Formats: sequence, C-alpha cells, structure tokens
Amino acid sequence: MQMMSGSQTSASVPERKGYVYIAGAGPGDPELLTLKAERALREADVILFDDLVLPQMLDTYKAEKIYTGKRKDSHHFEQDEINQEIVRHALLGRTVVRLKGGDPFIFGRGGEEIDTLRQHGIDYEIIPGITAAHGASAYTEIPLTLRKVSSSVAFCTGHPVNKIQVPDTDTIVYYMVASTVHDVLDAVAAKGRSGKTMVAVVQNATRYNQQTFTGTLDEFRKREKAVYSPALVIIGDTISLFIAENWYSRKKKVLTTGEAPKKFVPADYITVPFPCQQVAGADLGAVKACIEGIDQFSMLFFQNRFAVRYFFRYLFEHGRDVRHLAHLVICAANRSASTELLEYGIIPDCRLEAETPTSIGELLHNQGLAGQRILLPGAEHVDELVAGQLREGGSQVTPLVVYVHGAQDRVETIDLDFIDEIYFASAECVRKFRELHDAIPSRINVSTADERTEREYHTLFAP
Ligand code: SAH
Repeated sequence: MQMMSGSQTSASVPERKGYVYIAGAGPGDPELLTLKAERALREADVILFDDLVLPQMLDTYKAEKIYTGKRKDSHHFEQDEINQEIVRHALLGRTVVRLKGGDPFIFGRGGEEIDTLRQHGIDYEIIPGITAAHGASAYTEIPLTLRKVSSSVAFCTGHPVNKIQVPDTDTIVYYMVASTVHDVLDAVAAKGRSGKTMVAVVQNATRYNQQTFTGTLDEFRKREKAVYSPALVIIGDTISLFIAENWYSRKKKVLTTGEAPKKFVPADYITVPFPCQQVAGADLGAVKACIEGIDQFSMLFFQNRFAVRYFFRYLFEHGRDVRHLAHLVICAANRSASTELLEYGIIPDCRLEAETPTSIGELLHNQGLAGQRILLPGAEHVDELVAGQLREGGSQVTPLVVYVHGAQDRVETIDLDFIDEIYFASAECVRKFRELHDAIPSRINVSTADERTEREYHTLFAP
C-alpha cells in the first residue's frame, strides 16, 4: 500500500508556511559566524547542517539539529533529499536554518536550494558567510590582492579534473583540491605560469589544526604530498611574503572541557572545546522493553533514516531480526526513511511524501490505519507535531529514543599533535576524554580545576 499525499489538504495545515534562512557558517572558527546567522540560529526550530559545519558550533541552540553531510561509512544525503527535507520542515510552519560551511553561494549549492524554495512558494533569505578563501588568507597572512603584486583574484574549483579552469588572474584560489592538487598544478603549468610561481596549500583553515605548506609550482609538482580535506590551494606571488610564523600559528592551542578559565586570554590562546557534557545515546532500558515487548505494538513509524538505522542496530543487538516485525504495519515518513528500510529488506507499507503538509493522522485514517499502537523510534526530542498527528487518528504513540542528535558526528577525536595545553574542568571530563585518548603526550601541559579532577587525571593517565 502506498500513501501519497498529492493534493490532499488538512484542517491542521499551518496558516503560514515556515521561513528558511540559507546561511553561511564560515570556515571553521566559530567566531567567524556573522551576528545575523547567530540570530537566525537562535530563532530556528530546525537546523540542517552539512559536513563543513562543526557540530560543536551548534551546541547552544535549542533547535532540532539534522546532519545532512557525507560520511564515508554511510550513504550520504543527495541534494534533492536535502531540498525535500528543507521543504518538509518549512511546510510544517517551522523556521529552518540551512547552515553551510563558508558562504552558501561559493561552491555551496545555495542556488539550487533557493530554486526549490521558490517552486514551493516558501519565504527565505540568504545570509552570507566568510568563505574558506578569505578565512585561509587572513589566518595564514597571505593577502589575496596586494598593491603592485596582485590586482586580481579568482575562486575556482579543482573538481571535476577534466574541467579545471585557469583564469588569467594574479592570484587563483582553488577549492575542492584534496584529491586533485596535482591535476590543478599541472593545469596551471600547462597554461604557461612560471615554475617559480608560489603555491600554498592550506588545510583546515581557521581551525585549531590549520596547516600550511608552501613552495614553488615546480617543487609542488614533484612532491608526493597527501592533502587532507578540507583544503584549498592558493597560487600567486603574494605568497612569497608569507611568513611561516604567522599570527595564528603563534597562538597556543588549549583544549578545554567546560568553561575555560580567564588565564587563557584570546591574545595568546586558541580555545579548542572538548564536548564532555554529552547526553547519553539511547535510553537502553526503554529500548530493551520495547524490543522484547514488540508484540504489543501494531505499527512502526520511522521519521527518518537515522531512526531506521539505530532501531535496527538495537533490534539485532537483542538477537532479533525482521521476522520479529512481521505483524507490524511499517510506515516511513519520507523517502530517506523508506530507502533505508529497503536496506533491511523492508518495503514500507506506507510512505508519506515530503510535500505532505501535516495530515499524517488523516492519511492513516483514510487508509483504515486509525487506532494503532504505534512505536515511534527517533531522537531525544520527540517530534511533537508528528506524535500529535499520529494521536489524532486515535492511535497510542510510544516514542522511543534510539539516537541523540549530533552524537554520531561528535566522535571526531581531537588531533593532539596540534594541542599545546589541556584544561580539565571536572573528573567526569577526564573520564570522557580517556574514552577517546589512551595517553597524553608529555609535551602537553595539563592543568585541572580542582583536587578531585587532578586525582582522576593522575589515576587515568598516570603521568
Ligand atoms: N561554501 C564553502 C565551500 C564549499 S566547497 C565556502 O564558501 O568556503 C568545499 C571546499 O571548501 C573544500 O573542499 C575546501 O576546498 C574548501 N574549504 C572549506 N572549509 C575549509 C577550511 N576550513 N580550510 C580549507 N578549505 C576549506
């Protein structure tokens, strides 16, 4: 059975369609967010953020946070899926921030997203961000233009390799070069640029682990050097004025858990936050009870692919598989959830399209699916709109936390090679840190908030 919303309307369609901000987050340093983007993030009901946005930048906002990026271990959101997700939330009357690394209109696909919004008659605005080239330039002291040296600059992409352009500007910045640096440099050389032209590769610009490599075009073309994403290449003679010891590299990097004490003044330190107040993942007791008591439910309703993925992970952990779900009506709220269900061999009984405004309860009712006992796996904040609509159809709804927003993105460990000092705010934070790092290199200076924390640090790291 397929349930498509089509042109159906419902009494509960909100009067005002939501509002969408397409906003730039800047290149990494959280302080490079604009005041306007910050205001939008505070207003937001939902934040959809991509790979280049550091999740810890979003910790303080109350909005539901949805990661739309790419990870090696999972299939990624396609652009049209992201467009649909933005539209779906907006049509529910929500304020949505679509937050992108850098600037939304520089290799950011912001143009495609507003196209979809226009088609759906949804109001939006665009908030510019500091693009990676500007961040890299300022944080490495490589000017993009300079009197008598460079009077023009171009932003290009190193992807795809067969379309690399080499404009006739004094300075060129290439984005998306991690796997194509050599192709880019070959293209530049083929265009007739001198082998002595200076090149800089800037990795992780404006982040604690920023790294810069410089040399001539000839040197770089000979060098077998791996470049790690995100990185860009700057080409031009302003680089010869580059000083390895620039203002950003001179600052000490201090990793702090919790609030940093005042002694780490911004003039001397870059504070790298270590998130230790992490909410625990699923409610394991509830998960066990629901899976063991799965027979008491008549329907499983999945709101997104994460709900599907984590629910099945726990199902398998409890020694069960899809056969134990045979008696259930299984619903997917959108295409990403139904695609994920297929991975587990399940064709959902009903699939609600992204355009469905609000009438989930009504749609179920029309399909004779009212009065169900619904298990609703999802994140820590129950989507009350969806739960409420499901209840409208006379169903009982049991929300079940199977994952925590953002948690799956936070496992990114800190690269201690770039850290000069660590400050532990509490014993809990020491323990949390120990889960990710077995040892602390002796060159790193460690300080702690109090005696209890100090004792825990000595116990766990035995310095
Ligand atoms: N809209 C973004 C660019 C997105 S394309 C912006 O305006 O910056 C992704 C590319 O941006 C990456 O492949 C890399 O080339 C570049 N990039 C983004 N953040 C970066 C960073 N912190 N350091 C270096 N390059 C970065």
